[in-house]
Amino acid sequence: MLEGKVAVVTGASRGIGRAIAMKLASQGATVVINYNGSEARAQEVKQSIEENGGKAEIMQCNVSDFAACEAFFKAVIEKLGRVDILVNNAGITKDGLLMKMSEADYDAVLDTNLKGTFNCIRFVSRQMLKQRSGRIINMSSVTGVMGNAGQANYAASKAGVIGLTKSVARELASRGITVNAIAPGFIETEMTEVLSDTVKKNSESMIPLGRFGQTEDVANAAAFFASEEAAYITGQVLNIDGGMAM
Ligand code: NAP
Repeated sequence: MLEGKVAVVTGASRGIGRAIAMKLASQGATVVINYNGSEARAQEVKQSIEENGGKAEIMQCNVSDFAACEAFFKAVIEKLGRVDILVNNAGITKDGLLMKMSEADYDAVLDTNLKGTFNCIRFVSRQMLKQRSGRIINMSSVTGVMGNAGQANYAASKAGVIGLTKSVARELASRGITVNAIAPGFIETEMTEVLSDTVKKNSESMIPLGRFGQTEDVANAAAFFASEEAAYITGQVLNIDGGMAM
């Protein structure tokens, strides 16, 4: 279904990004597994894709670094010739109550989650405009839709991703490029593993489907947005959250 397509997935060395990389590769796309520090884990994802008959490359880039993103997309295009799908998945949390939140923790989360998404779109869009086609999928969060005590920085970054998605969707629509966002709820990854049992129990009670989601639940939605079937969908935010934010 995605044969001949090139997909870049940021933060694909584990968690949701890993599942998206595996899914897109299983559909025939050549996948660039981006990572920041976890080279060995990115290598493991590449190996898993290849064992399943897929094609993948690993490429390091800190998405919060504007100049590094420019060099990254230049290198991707030099190596693979095109970019059809960009999934802006890289993200971090640095939780704390607003009154105690440091400037560094605020900046780090905004720089990775929001500016990182901007940086990647900024440098992929030139190529997609040339191709007159493309799919951009941005990872927001249910927290960006509903807010969450203790996550002011994260919620601001993820709400920002939604505004960015809708604005860029309007800018790029006439060139056949769609831009959508996914807002996951609680998904079982290393990001949520660190939550205390009490927080996990309380969170589950807010989820109508009564459980945390799996990384594949998010990957399935990303694959849909990346597909031909989603050609008439742009500027949308899809919650994958067991009904939490309905
Ligand atoms: P995770 O397991 O913590 O993985 C984060 C990934 O992002 C890693 O591959 C990490 O690579 C990469 N990354 C972090 N900073 C980076 C940077 N500056 N440049 C490039 N890559 C960077 O997270 P996850 O749970 O899979 O979350 C993935 C995305 O979904 C995030 O945007 C997150 O906010 C969002 N989300 C998650 C949940 C959830 O419940 N898990 C819910 C809503 C939204 P390195 O290790 O190499 O740095």
